Amino acid sequence: MDTELANRIADNLARVRERIAAAEARYGRPPGSVALLAVSKVQGAERINAAHAAGQTAFGESYVQEALDKQAVLADLPLLWHFVGRVQTNKTRDIAAHFDWLHSLCDSKHARRLAAQRPAGAPPLQVCVQVNLSGEASKAGLPPEEAAALIDACRALSGIAVAGLMTLPAPAEDLATQRRPFAALRALRDRLATPDLPLSTLSMGMTADLEAAIAEGATMVRVGTAVFGPRPPAVGA
Ligand SMILES: *Cc1c(COP(=O)(O)O)cnc(C)c1O
Repeated sequence: MDTELANRIADNLARVRERIAAAEARYGRPPGSVALLAVSKVQGAERINAAHAAGQTAFGESYVQEALDKQAVLADLPLLWHFVGRVQTNKTRDIAAHFDWLHSLCDSKHARRLAAQRPAGAPPLQVCVQVNLSGEASKAGLPPEEAAALIDACRALSGIAVAGLMTLPAPAEDLATQRRPFAALRALRDRLATPDLPLSTLSMGMTADLEAAIAEGATMVRVGTAVFGPRPPAVGA
């Protein structure tokens, strides 16, 4: 392993863990209540290997084929794979077969396909329903008023389990503005949670706004740049 790269990623991870711990303390969250998902899209397998060596086990990917290629290289490591990208209908089988989590479910047809395609014997695919709280047509995610129907559609499906909600807001500079969509996601969760489906996962917060998300109850932050450094341009982009 390239030791300079490994040291850099280990330092980055330590700093991100410190940011998470500091935000937990500042906002009255129990220590360890916020999990770190390292978003490794467009980053090479060597970087994932380095992050794993520094204690990181959960990785987020946005492009199915790229993820499968890296999973093959890293098959000997006990990693958990989260799909955070836009779901395409023709990729549901690969997502169902090769991921532990899906953060970006927006469509009941995809839910039915993923459940049917989840391999027999595998634990249910943990899914978050992605909600668009910035109201931008270009951003993925359901309008909040459609989340309940999708969650209900998922209840009957045995291959997937709804763990909670996810959001990816438009970037904002100041903490108060950053907090608004995260507070809205938490409020939506509080409205939709039931004893049998507590929706305990709130997947929200990235490099630029993880403190705001933790202040509003994030249980999982999805961090790419602060862990791996700036992303190289996507192949074909
Ligand atoms: C890329 C990505 C992230 C990580 O973003 P950073 O700003 O690099 O931390 C988080 N969530 C999703 C859905 C992403 O696509």
